[in-house]
Amino acid sequence: MRIGRFSTLKVELLGVRFDDLSPEEMVHTAASLIEAGGFHYAVTPNPEFLLAARKNEAFRTVLNQADLSMPDGIGVVYVSKILGRPLKGRVPGIDFAEHLVAWMARTGKRLYLLGSKPGVAEAAAKTLTERYPGLTVCGTHDGYFQEDAPVIEAVRASGADVVLVGLGAPKQELWMAQNGPATGARFMVGLGGALDVFAGNVERAPEAWQKAGMEWCYRLLKEPKRIGRMAKLPLVLVQAAGARLRGR
Ligand code: UDP
Repeated sequence: MRIGRFSTLKVELLGVRFDDLSPEEMVHTAASLIEAGGFHYAVTPNPEFLLAARKNEAFRTVLNQADLSMPDGIGVVYVSKILGRPLKGRVPGIDFAEHLVAWMARTGKRLYLLGSKPGVAEAAAKTLTERYPGLTVCGTHDGYFQEDAPVIEAVRASGADVVLVGLGAPKQELWMAQNGPATGARFMVGLGGALDVFAGNVERAPEAWQKAGMEWCYRLLKEPKRIGRMAKLPLVLVQAAGARLRGR
């Protein structure tokens, strides 16, 4: 497929497809999709997604039907190297979102924030509008709702162009694929806990740690209870090595 200036070359890693694009190219592609009209969505798989997608076919399907799939974290880049299909590099979903929001502020697009605990999306909206003057946040909603219909209607009534969705995986991916078109929005991206970071509730690693590919380690030091989740990284690397040996 060719969208705007970039053709999307998909690379499959352990059954999940990724776009091999730089962060700038990801944002340009998203902007082209938004301008093209219709509904599109993006996903940000990390090593935990890869493991979950092996067992959960519905999750794997919505990941692979996404218009844009970015390797969220150094673990996926390691997997790509082990499999002999190296990606250009990681594209953290939160960095992608910031650049997209900056573009939206410049081009007058309307942003909706959906997800996280009550109050978080509002705090994230405040941060983003202060950081990107001219940005229109047309609505917010927490991520602990029971019925989809009122949320779909709220997004539709807001006239949003783009929705940042932080419901955790795989809920956010399934939600975007199933309900995105009915909202009238043009683009959604699943971002896990990014709204908590924008709201200032969760701190990101300093840039030097990020550049060194050690953001996961910083996060572990700050939130030791994540050890169970992070222990999945070595497992996914072992699976990648096994797949390589089997020639897949
Ligand atoms: N979340 C939500 N609704 C739910 C479950 C989770 O809005 O039913 C939010 C949660 O408050 C948090 C985010 O989803 O903001 C967590 O997502 P995840 O753990 O995937 O994010 P990560 O921390 O890995 O970025």
